[in-house]
Amino acid sequence: MKTYGVLLCDADDTIFDFRRAEEVAFQEAMRAFGLPDGPDWLAVYSGINLALWKAFERGEVTQPVLRVRRFESLLARMDAQRDAAAVAARYTQALGCCAAMLPGAQEAVRRWSARVPVVVVTNGIGSVQRGRMERSPIRAYIRGLIISEEVGAAKPDPRMIEAALRAVGCADRSRALMLGDSLTSDIAGAEAAGVDSCWFNPSGAKNESVHRPTYEIRRYEQLDALLD
Ligand SMILES: [Mg+2]
Repeated sequence: MKTYGVLLCDADDTIFDFRRAEEVAFQEAMRAFGLPDGPDWLAVYSGINLALWKAFERGEVTQPVLRVRRFESLLARMDAQRDAAAVAARYTQALGCCAAMLPGAQEAVRRWSARVPVVVVTNGIGSVQRGRMERSPIRAYIRGLIISEEVGAAKPDPRMIEAALRAVGCADRSRALMLGDSLTSDIAGAEAAGVDSCWFNPSGAKNESVHRPTYEIRRYEQLDALLD
């Protein structure tokens, strides 16, 4: 079986518990501005945020616009008069402080990094992702951190994966494997860059996209056999 010498790894919902981080940051931002912070409003916010990130992947909005617009939309739905940019800034700051990982992720990254260099490749805001990585228990295991805001392009743009390969001096892209939970950003990005991919699909969701991962796993342990 083919094995790989470099692992490129998505962050949110692949190793970091994004749902948890979002919940904590949302509650903190809402409370700071005297706004309702219950689960119903979190669900409204999540829906707005997800739709905007999909629009971002399609190149329809920029990240600075997305960052504020999600709260403009939320405040409009709440019929609340607040400064959306100030709410957004508070949320972003809180998000950078939450480094909760998915169950088993810390041990998996430690195991993988003992065998091959691991580079985290993430679409996100530089200060948020760097803040979380600084606070995370996997910090010592990561060889590089590639963030879309700093690259000036976002997955599925192949420049993200190319930046990651450069970060570890990998000249042969057939040696690299991209691991991620998103078909439209991680798997599509790997396809665009000519790199093999592994879809992290813990819930066993059906692939209804046009993208075809090289491998599909439900548990982290299944990736171990694919590394040198
Ligand atoms: Mg993800």
